[in-house]
Amino acid sequence: MSDTRDNKPIDIALVGASAPERASVSGSGRLNLFDLDRPRMEAFFEQLGEKRFRAHQVMKWIHHRYVTEFEGMTDLGKALRAKLEQHAEVRVPQVVFDKASDDGTHKWLLGMDTSNAIETVYIPDKGRGTLCVSSQVGCALNCQFCSTATQGFNRNLTTAEIIGQVWVAARHLGNVPHQQRKLTNVVMMGMGEPLANFDNVVRAMSIMRDDLGYGLANKRVTLSTAGMVPMIDRLAEESDVSLAVSLHAPDDDLRSELVPLNRKYPIAVLMDACVRYARRKKASVTFEYTLMKGVNDQPHHAQALARLMRQFDRAVQMKDAAKVNLIPFNPFPGTRFERPDEGAIRAFQKILNEAGLIAPVRRTRGDDIDAACGQLKGQVMDRTRRSAEFRRRLAGQGMGDAA
Ligand code: SF4
Repeated sequence: MSDTRDNKPIDIALVGASAPERASVSGSGRLNLFDLDRPRMEAFFEQLGEKRFRAHQVMKWIHHRYVTEFEGMTDLGKALRAKLEQHAEVRVPQVVFDKASDDGTHKWLLGMDTSNAIETVYIPDKGRGTLCVSSQVGCALNCQFCSTATQGFNRNLTTAEIIGQVWVAARHLGNVPHQQRKLTNVVMMGMGEPLANFDNVVRAMSIMRDDLGYGLANKRVTLSTAGMVPMIDRLAEESDVSLAVSLHAPDDDLRSELVPLNRKYPIAVLMDACVRYARRKKASVTFEYTLMKGVNDQPHHAQALARLMRQFDRAVQMKDAAKVNLIPFNPFPGTRFERPDEGAIRAFQKILNEAGLIAPVRRTRGDDIDAACGQLKGQVMDRTRRSAEFRRRLAGQGMGDAA
């Protein structure tokens, strides 16, 4: 079969890649297939002059069997493999290092380019395994108690870089979608504000939920936001995932201090957006509340939080529409906040429980590898002692120089 398309450049815009993803076309001009959800993968194969089912075969090779070399995709013809080689690649993030905790938690530091790295954490628990995925390198929102915020914002991750995190973890775990699921949940709760990188995050979440991707149920993919209100409404229109909101305070004065975004979208406005989301999806919303000693852990805070949550239940007209996750603060070097003692945590929880709220205390995991929530802090080039080590490791893996 003659194929005149072999030498034609692929039109990335036709495949549907948005501007930031064009960065996923490497210097060789080849498209990183991690970037493509099912419709875009089909469009790409159409441009190659191939049938749609070929796109599905390749997705299975990549996301189910972790094969990244076209040569190894043995049910594709030789000519197609050569064409793919010419126009595409599957570029996996570089594992700079990874660490396993005694409790089964596993953390990866993944190099995204020569100067940026992010962290991804896997947390196994009874009957499930949750992967905490990053959406940005750093974060611009400057929440006062957050380790990531201390490094500022570098850039958004592409869809490929978000899915690359899932791929690295799933392969390491020997996850087989639909059969042997080690990876049962994903939370977009790592570095960054996912709604500030909307298109790339939504597309990545669709690959996570696709049967040809990682096959996760909608409710097992959770997006956690600090409260970007207009984007919560857009998310309700364009995706179908669970929503979590980083609340951390029951009143505007305190929340504006802890989460500066609250000055733009105060609690009442945020809660209205959450009500719209919960009603539209007919699903609960999880409110995360990091407990900090002497800051937001007093009984009057718990009472005010309980009132706010009950108000939310009534507005949604659904029992247990609001769920609260209590997260004892995990101190990191340089922070002014402290973790409350166990008695204060339990007393806070008791007030919520007595008000009829579901409010588990999230156990701290991976303490020995700094993997607990709020400690996701990527390597900050030129600012930390670890940067030299990071550069050395990248150079050792052929990324950047060791200068
Ligand atoms: S808590 Fe989340 S939104 Fe706030 S600064 Fe940290 S990463 Fe950004």
